[in-house]
Amino acid sequence: MLQTLKKYFGYDTFRPLQEEVIRTLLAGKDCLVLMPTGGGKSICYQLPALLREGIAIVVSPLISLMKDQVETLCANGIAAGALNSSNDETENALLYRSCMEGKLKLLYISPEKLIAEANYLLRDMPISLFAIDEAHCISQWGHDFRPEYAQMGFLHEMFPNIPIIALTATADKITREDIIRQLHLNQPKIFISSFDRPNLSLTVKRGYQQKEKNKAILDFIARHSGESGIIYCMSRNNTEKVAQMLQKHGLRAAVYHAGLAPKYRDEVQDDFINDRIQIVCATIAFGMGIDKSNVRWVIHYNLPKSIESFYQEIGRAGRDGMSSDTLLFYSLADLILLTKFATESGQQGINLEKLQRMQQYAEADVCRRRILLSYFGETTTEDCGNCDVCKNPPQRFDGTIIVQKALSAIARTDQQIGTGMLVDILRGNINAEIAEKGYQDLKTYGAGRDVPARDWQDYLLQMLQLGYFEIAYNENNHLKITESGRDVLFGRARAQLAVIRREETTTTKEKKRKTIVPVRELPLELPYTKSTELFEALSELRRRLASHEGYPAYIVLSDKVLHQLSISRPTTLEEFGTISGIGEYKKKKYGKEFVELIRKFC
Ligand code: ADP
Ligand code: ZN
Repeated sequence: MLQTLKKYFGYDTFRPLQEEVIRTLLAGKDCLVLMPTGGGKSICYQLPALLREGIAIVVSPLISLMKDQVETLCANGIAAGALNSSNDETENALLYRSCMEGKLKLLYISPEKLIAEANYLLRDMPISLFAIDEAHCISQWGHDFRPEYAQMGFLHEMFPNIPIIALTATADKITREDIIRQLHLNQPKIFISSFDRPNLSLTVKRGYQQKEKNKAILDFIARHSGESGIIYCMSRNNTEKVAQMLQKHGLRAAVYHAGLAPKYRDEVQDDFINDRIQIVCATIAFGMGIDKSNVRWVIHYNLPKSIESFYQEIGRAGRDGMSSDTLLFYSLADLILLTKFATESGQQGINLEKLQRMQQYAEADVCRRRILLSYFGETTTEDCGNCDVCKNPPQRFDGTIIVQKALSAIARTDQQIGTGMLVDILRGNINAEIAEKGYQDLKTYGAGRDVPARDWQDYLLQMLQLGYFEIAYNENNHLKITESGRDVLFGRARAQLAVIRREETTTTKEKKRKTIVPVRELPLELPYTKSTELFEALSELRRRLASHEGYPAYIVLSDKVLHQLSISRPTTLEEFGTISGIGEYKKKKYGKEFVELIRKFC
């Protein structure tokens, strides 16, 4: 098993659970595998496919996923093909022949084709195993239900001796049971790995207004110069605005949402995968088909509606296991809007509950990763050290006077104002409504001039979280003081607020650090500039080879391999082959050119 792993995939060791899953499958038993995105599910069935007689049938719901997998396999010298509606006649004829002659090791197939071919191709070819990828699609409880998936129960009756492995990154307990039942899995062994993704850093920025958000985004991208990333927005309109803002600053950004023509969306996805576009500003429509392994960052421009969505979206970063950054913007306006959606959703109870859990994450003053993991039912005993709370624990101060000013302004307007008006009154701004209602004569008018408007937004969020006021969503979002708010207002209790931290402006030193992506397990004490130059030269060579072969760059060599090359600098084919992620096929195919390039640098 280890030899095959090294020979075809270039890895020296298995990831957690992979070996056990492979052994189970090789013994001819069914399994259900739950692993987070990037956990290494594919090898769980690809390695048995290589070791067992016959062809492994892999059911996959999306053509783009199949394409990515087949290219990855072929780039490692493994015979694989995909049978789906995008093939033409000639392709199909060739594929059928290879299948019948047993010339492939893996055949990817859409569920529709699987059902259509059950009595034809499937009967005529030697099959080693069935792998059902994205198996949660089988369940109505899951979030991507596919009716065709639900018809696959026949497999086990028709092929009782061929093992089935079902794999997914998202499945709660009900979905899990549903998968087992619907596929008629036979006493399957269930493997559940930790959902922790320690390579993703977690940061939340609270209470930013649009202008500050844009600036923070530009600073963030400057620190990730040239690296692929996704910005998720709540509305189509926002995706367009953000993309335009980025384009104005010379960045290669595009928009992706459900309102665009399918052809255009495919183009955007393709450009992104092939690094022709650096940034995609997307709604949640941009998702499952993105199997790009070198997405280095994900920004949430708006608060997501649940931790599930959030975790799945940030999970698109760092699939190759390298450090990647995630940033979430959290504002009162988003919270108000999402609460409205949840209230009107027809499933008010559950949707509000989900939103509240998301809100708790965003407002957390304990390790954020612990909150995520506990949400998914995992307990940890240690803080992660890779979230903003761990790196920079919040400090508190006595904010009683600030809270009193805000609450007093609310009280003096008979609780008939929303947050925008409240900040205007506190800051002593003038506008038509203030003049009309005579708010400029209130005692609290201008009482909060010493605090910038953006800080007021932040404090108000904190006050909401602390329960000093509520938002009457059914009354134009007017603010209503609570009992505990009254206690502070009338001096019966004191209020502790968190000190607001603002983004320090990017230093030039940070800007220079751009192309090196820190890989935790590697020593990085090499002189920085030289290694950057080499890295860029290696990227250029990779780009050239990739475009020559019509592959995305990361399929030729992953970012991780490229970084390892720039650090360990192999100058012989032999050394080149020892790099993790380079199997024999890639060594023969690319080794010479990379080694020559590295020699020139040393
Ligand atoms: P998933 O399907 O679970 O999202 P993949 O199968 O695409 O994840 O694997 C994610 C990444 O991890 C890929 O780049 C893969 O080559 C790599 N990987 C898988 N197994 C190992 C291993 N044993 N050692 C090192 N890297 C691995
Ligand atoms: Zn942490």
